[in-house]
Amino acid sequence: MSDWRSRLPQVRGRYSFDASMADQTWFRVGGTADVLYKPADLDDLVHFLKNRPASVPLYVVGAGSNLLVRDGGVRGIVIRLGRGFSTIERDGLFVTVGAAALDRTVAMSCGQWGLSGLEFLVGVPGTIGGAVKMNAGCYGSETKDRLVWADILDFEGTLHRLTPDQLAMTYRHTNLRPDQIVVAAQFRCDEGDSAQILSRLDQLLAEREASQPVKGRTGGSTFRNPDGQSAWKLIDDAGCRGLMMGQAQVSEKHTNFLLNTDRCLAADLESLGELVRRKVKETSGHDLHWEIVRIGEKD
Ligand SMILES: Cc1cc2nc3c(=O)[nH]c(=O)nc-3n(C[C@H](O)[C@H](O)[C@H](O)COP(=O)(O)OP(=O)(O)OC[C@H]3O[C@@H](n4cnc5c(N)ncnc54)[C@H](O)[C@@H]3O)c2cc1C
Repeated sequence: MSDWRSRLPQVRGRYSFDASMADQTWFRVGGTADVLYKPADLDDLVHFLKNRPASVPLYVVGAGSNLLVRDGGVRGIVIRLGRGFSTIERDGLFVTVGAAALDRTVAMSCGQWGLSGLEFLVGVPGTIGGAVKMNAGCYGSETKDRLVWADILDFEGTLHRLTPDQLAMTYRHTNLRPDQIVVAAQFRCDEGDSAQILSRLDQLLAEREASQPVKGRTGGSTFRNPDGQSAWKLIDDAGCRGLMMGQAQVSEKHTNFLLNTDRCLAADLESLGELVRRKVKETSGHDLHWEIVRIGEKD
């Protein structure tokens, strides 16, 4: 065992050594992390950050729904927030949520409370931490539209409460650095009719299933939409629909989604993505930029 792994602080959460990152991501690919740490709660995470071996790299992941972990795995410690960060509480029109709560669960809870505004989250399969970091959005709404504040922990264990303006939230982007962990967030909703909101949620889920490979091993939108353009259309026009590399495929259903069709390597997915970028550049002149976050080492 590496020297630093025997010097990890004692925590109430759980360490897993040589943990499969394929098990932590929607793509189901990727090597192992030296250590996967699941903190029990905020105090446990702060204690870990203040006492961890210095100079060992740290990474934060959520539900792994926008994440490609490379085949060589992650050298260092991967932090994944769990049950201790999944509360969803209502106070009037305000909803305060732990960063590990699933977006869909938050949308459903709001629907049951008759609170509207967060319906768009129902089809985003990540956590609230990932939604804040990526400024997740769809159907013309974005996380920033409803966010009041987010509590951010830095790697020294200090908590900061930041507003959407301070987070500089723009299309699928914030100024959060990789060494900042979202631990909670508060949203502002409007009063609505519970039955109507719940029926709208069902409708959004059905629309999604019809238009995206939501049951596949995918990472969501692969590339950001260039200004005024749709990435899926540029990819389609470049003749990439259904294109394969190894076991990786450009989805037939939605061309901005890559799929692990079987026992695919992360390298297949990444190389296929790069091939798509080259083809789009050749046919349309547009540069596509990865929305999917890639971490870890190549094999
Ligand atoms: C089928 C499918 C459909 C999707 N549809 C949409 C959509 O409509 N709109 C949309 O915006 N996205 C969509 N996505 C992408 C994805 O769900 C979102 O980007 C989501 O917000 C990612 O959250 P996550 O918890 O899975 O984060 P991960 O994928 O685990 O991580 C993504 C990034 O967020 C960071 N991160 C995660 N948690 C934290 C935290 N607590 N603190 C700090 N940083 C953190 C990670 O370090 C990484 O940089 C889709 C994905 C899939 C698979």
